[in-house]
Amino acid sequence: MALEDMRHPIESGCPDGFQYMHPTMRKNYGAWKFHDHPRPGVLRHVAHSGDEIWTVKCGTQRILDVYSLRKLTSIGDEFADGYVRFTIRSNIEYMITDEAKVEPLIKALEDAGFVVGGTANSVAMISHTQGWLHCDIPGTDASGVVKSMMDELITEFKECNMPNRVHITTSCCQINCGGQGDIAINVQHTKPPKINHDLVANICERPTVVARCPVAAIRPAMVNGKPSLEVDEKKCICCGACFPPCPPMQINDPENSKLAIWVGGNHSNARSKPTFQKLVASGVPNNPPRWPEATAIVKRILKEYKEGAKDWERINDWIERIGWPRFFEVTGLPFTKYHIDNWRGSRNSLNASTHIRF
Ligand code: SF4
Ligand code: SF4
Repeated sequence: MALEDMRHPIESGCPDGFQYMHPTMRKNYGAWKFHDHPRPGVLRHVAHSGDEIWTVKCGTQRILDVYSLRKLTSIGDEFADGYVRFTIRSNIEYMITDEAKVEPLIKALEDAGFVVGGTANSVAMISHTQGWLHCDIPGTDASGVVKSMMDELITEFKECNMPNRVHITTSCCQINCGGQGDIAINVQHTKPPKINHDLVANICERPTVVARCPVAAIRPAMVNGKPSLEVDEKKCICCGACFPPCPPMQINDPENSKLAIWVGGNHSNARSKPTFQKLVASGVPNNPPRWPEATAIVKRILKEYKEGAKDWERINDWIERIGWPRFFEVTGLPFTKYHIDNWRGSRNSLNASTHIRF
């Protein structure tokens, strides 16, 4: 076949972002002089050319219904030349070149029930995974946890009163996506999977699921004359990795699937090296629709951080300075045996990191 007759590939990756960029941003790309923060929720960037642009940040629930999306974009058409962008934390940002339009835009957003904030030393919008809406393995919702918590933290989103910015994340299973945050709320399964033996032969690829278990706790077995699987429960670390390739290995459980709260994760920055998150609360009830127990713990940690940290200390810097025993003392969180990693595979898994070798 001649080259010109061949079907052109369909590019389904991320489209070129430049076509959606505000023209002033495109014009001054790579040529910005400085930026400042005139008020919570608003940034001003000044270019070497003298151009200025104001960015207004507004929180959204990430999983947007079509009416909210239309409302948000029509506000963008009215005040921001029709250009918007979504941030990784599900905020919508409007770029404006006329300062006189900043306050009317904020008013229009607030009148429509949206919240402006999330910049600088605030609690930024919680980033979250898909939850019950469109993933096949979650042990909890994610957007619901975010909505409940942000309702309680709305003042901290709108104002910039924290010692430094706070990033919170939620993850709805233990093994896949999810973020690195100052505070992370993650699912925690506490019991091994229950196997529905009648379905295994028809649904699971047994070699795949056996290979997938990180601690080799799954073995092929004949049950009631049918090929199935068995789990060595003494070895199982309740990670849930077997459930996606083998749904009859049900691990989600209304009683035994809990939430765990981790703190102090941070990517490296100009001041410090990357830090791992550390578990501070385990077995927290996974309690929809408002998750009051998890929210109360997050609020308690934030209160102590706000009162005790020095300016510019992130949560991990603050804990590093005061020490873990003091962290548990001031937050009143109990230190239990679940905070100690006694997993025999940890030596190998930690050695997989480029930062820790031992
Ligand atoms: S964290 Fe797990 S359950 Fe949640 S969206 Fe990601 S893969 Fe799915
Ligand atoms: S939950 Fe994790 S450790 Fe337990 S059997 Fe499944 S894959 Fe293995």
